[in-house]
Amino acid sequence: MTGETMLEGRMQPWSMTVDRFIRHAARWHGTREVVSFLDDGRSERTDYASIETKARKLSAALLAYGIGPGDRVATLAMNSADHLVAWYAIAGIGAVCHTLNPRLGEHHLVWIANHAKDRILISDGAFSETAEILAQQCTSIEKLLFFTPPHSDSSGQLLDDFSASASESCDWGGFDENTAAGLCYTSGTTGDPKGVLYSHRSNVLHTLMSIQPDALNLSARDTILPVVPMYHANAWGLTFSAPAVGAKLVLPGGKLDGETLFTRMREEEVTVSAGVPTAWIGLLDHMEAKGERLPHLSRVIVGGAAMTETLLRRFEAKGIEAIASWGMTELSPVGGIATPVAAVAQMPSERQLPYRLKQGRVFFGIDMRICREDGEELSHDGTTPGALQMRGPCVAEGYFGLDGLATTADGYLDTGDIATIDPLGYVQIVDRAKDIVKSGGEWISSLEIENAASLFPGVSMAAVLGVPDPKWDERPLLLVTAGDDGIDIDKLRDHLAGKLPKWWLPDEIRLVDSLPLGATGKIDKKVLRAELLG
Ligand code: AMP
Repeated sequence: MTGETMLEGRMQPWSMTVDRFIRHAARWHGTREVVSFLDDGRSERTDYASIETKARKLSAALLAYGIGPGDRVATLAMNSADHLVAWYAIAGIGAVCHTLNPRLGEHHLVWIANHAKDRILISDGAFSETAEILAQQCTSIEKLLFFTPPHSDSSGQLLDDFSASASESCDWGGFDENTAAGLCYTSGTTGDPKGVLYSHRSNVLHTLMSIQPDALNLSARDTILPVVPMYHANAWGLTFSAPAVGAKLVLPGGKLDGETLFTRMREEEVTVSAGVPTAWIGLLDHMEAKGERLPHLSRVIVGGAAMTETLLRRFEAKGIEAIASWGMTELSPVGGIATPVAAVAQMPSERQLPYRLKQGRVFFGIDMRICREDGEELSHDGTTPGALQMRGPCVAEGYFGLDGLATTADGYLDTGDIATIDPLGYVQIVDRAKDIVKSGGEWISSLEIENAASLFPGVSMAAVLGVPDPKWDERPLLLVTAGDDGIDIDKLRDHLAGKLPKWWLPDEIRLVDSLPLGATGKIDKKVLRAELLG
């Protein structure tokens, strides 16, 4: 375009800042309910208009205290309306809402809060002991606030008291849309945790992208219950997208067992929910044991780890559509969803199944490719695995406080996943690069063995590890947990033999009482590896 004068558009400068979501919801869906469940099982009902008012007051109090643009304010909390208030109050004034994961160990949290240089910590009362430790051990934390009364002796102040004298007329936004809005650390499977620093613009774009019909398909008629916590990559964006579309929001608090989830969903007539497979197994176990139904629940988004055929069929038997999706903290976080393109929708349902079980297709605003080790792009034949790389305006290009870019020379982020892409554009994650079992120079997908094992009646959870082997380098070890009736390991071995290539069959299958879950509810292979292999 050299030598030419570009012509500027004559449209309004409307910076894409996240306060717009709650302002829109308050103005156009003001009485739409936001229901939170407290630790004692009681519910608190509010609406978007009240959330906006409360958030503006908190913003004013934060400003009066001296929080300014770019300052980090941390939260240590489960999903609740108060957490939502804090999230919009912090971001609205250009400060950064840093969601800490309460399920992480204290030393981890101290490291992360120190690295982030959080100035204020706002915690649920239930996490008061951890919050106190953080306040003592993190030199940057000046003030400790609590959403709910602390469960232990504490020097902290209640958030409502902190906000009490502030005015309700605090201005929001008015800054550059590339300003940071949120910070979330990834669990760091190797090395230290890394902070993903979302901008207002990336969050707004991710919201517009993820509410599309071929993505999460959210509308004003939905009642959304995010099982996925706000500290796990922004609850997959749902606490932005629910006010953006004017959906009723049900925030379940800390009790996420199957029976509690079921009760919340039934009482609040939830239409759509999202969470990791382990949460769904609990819900389905409860529903099946009691013969219960959820007539309003039309679909659940299954992400964070692969959806198994068993999970999909168990939901289907109850008239609930289970939709596979995948993502990662660095992608804001939704990378793709397994909704059908026309060619798949026209297939008979059994032929659709393999596509519904893949991780999904990208939607407008995110792009992907698979590459060989030397960077050469691989074909979309559905069988050749390669390193999955992503790019787009909601994909991280670097990490908070770390110099340099995290992307390839041509601007892609390597996800650390190994995947195939089929001719219809569906991606299938074969494995995490570090979990894949390398046997005799070939790759064995731990995910595929786990999926095959979970199809066997009685198997609750399955995990495969590569165990060092003098001849083959590594061989698969399969660990399974079983329901009350137990399982016959020999029969499970026969079942696997009918489903997997012979050389993929685990050398050993072990029945265990439980499998360790990480801080986001996925099976923690790092812990398993340390326990079993040292
Ligand atoms: P996190 O940033 O903690 O959400 O972890 C992201 C990683 O989780 C991805 O890079 C994948 O390895 C894994 N993951 C997320 N969703 C899926 C899925 N649907 N199937 C398989 N793996 C998944």
